[in-house]
Amino acid sequence: MKKTWITTSVLGMTLVAGVTAYTYEAPRHVEAKPQTESKKKVKNVIMMIPDGYSASYATNYRWYNGGDETELDRQLKGMMRTYSASSKVTDSAAAGTAMATGTKTNNGTIGMNPSGQEVESILDRADRVGKSTGLVATSAITHATPAVFASHVASRANEADIAKQYMDEMKVDVLLGGGQKYFFDKENGGVQEAGNLVKKAERAGYQYADSLESLQETDGRKVLGLFAEEGMAPELDRELTKQPSLSTMTKKAIQTLNKDKEGFFLMVEGSQIDWAGHAHDAAWAMKDSDAFHKAVKEAMRFAAKDKNTLVVVAGDHETGGMTVGGYDEYVAKPEVLKNVKATGDQMVRQFNDDLTNIAEIVKQETSFDLTAQEVKTLQTADSKKRVMLLNEMISKRAYVGWTTTVHTGVDVPLYAYGPHSDQFAGLHDNTDLPGLIANAMKLKK
Ligand SMILES: [Zn+2]
Repeated sequence: MKKTWITTSVLGMTLVAGVTAYTYEAPRHVEAKPQTESKKKVKNVIMMIPDGYSASYATNYRWYNGGDETELDRQLKGMMRTYSASSKVTDSAAAGTAMATGTKTNNGTIGMNPSGQEVESILDRADRVGKSTGLVATSAITHATPAVFASHVASRANEADIAKQYMDEMKVDVLLGGGQKYFFDKENGGVQEAGNLVKKAERAGYQYADSLESLQETDGRKVLGLFAEEGMAPELDRELTKQPSLSTMTKKAIQTLNKDKEGFFLMVEGSQIDWAGHAHDAAWAMKDSDAFHKAVKEAMRFAAKDKNTLVVVAGDHETGGMTVGGYDEYVAKPEVLKNVKATGDQMVRQFNDDLTNIAEIVKQETSFDLTAQEVKTLQTADSKKRVMLLNEMISKRAYVGWTTTVHTGVDVPLYAYGPHSDQFAGLHDNTDLPGLIANAMKLKK
């Protein structure tokens, strides 16, 4: 490592002096793969989207995890631009639509171009040639990122319509995530106007699961798993529930879809990295990044054994304007977040009515001592702002800064593993992804 750096800097000086002859050595992450490999038609694709994950998240996560290269670091290929048709700062609907269909659209729009015409997703194309397909997320399965792969609605808020589209077309064989309320009718505690979609799915041959245990019992080729009324629990709080982890869902989805001899397309979203960013909850962001890396490990383990599976990973945009270090000091300590055992939201829920146990709860869940001033700030704050104020106090101790409560427009890292992964080297636009995946699978237009 050190040797390479010295060579480069000497080279820089010689270039300034006007000497042009030098040998270029490709960094190992972007080495071209042998021709034979790039000609091979990829059977399966696993596309993984850590929602909101940028280079700052990757750096903080690496330190949080001890400082060594992470599972994703080893597969870094390039960077991806994220802007939408309506803004340099995209939302998840437009970003997902670009990554799923290759079309830039306006923020808020799902699976349509800016003029409202429906556009085909890479999942649709894989389905058309007879492959099995799956969507896995820790949000409601009807949330923006999974939705762009298999539905078309003018507004991402129409989650009941998205659920209805899934169950009208039945093209997605494995759906795992939250969002029970969008599938059940009013009589059964949901909001669905079109009747009970879970019953409809079961009649069509889906096995339904609503807990880790019932998911493990499924053995068919079509599974509808809905594990929460809305979004699933953050990984930090998951032990309070009966929900499966993202890696368990990923493993189950792969096992189920791999029964198809034609191959499969699977999208897996780490949905809540983004939610943590919006809430400025650095510990939640790190723990859900960790859960995502565990899911990546499942995908890579399968791909390494299968040898005919391409894994592509990229965040859809950055969330929160996260920094590594900050607060006017040359310090970063994301590793202290390992001591945090609950989300800010979960801690505030444990505060008593007269707010006298704040210091005690925070100490118990984070091992941090709040100052008397911080306790007072939390006691006197508007109850709606309490969670974010607490999250920012904890972030500060880890030197994780935040610059916005929405998204930012920075480029995000692009990772790929398996045959054709070399195609992902360099700076790509988010709209390039489905085309590159289609090339790898040799899908016709
Ligand atoms: Zn997003």
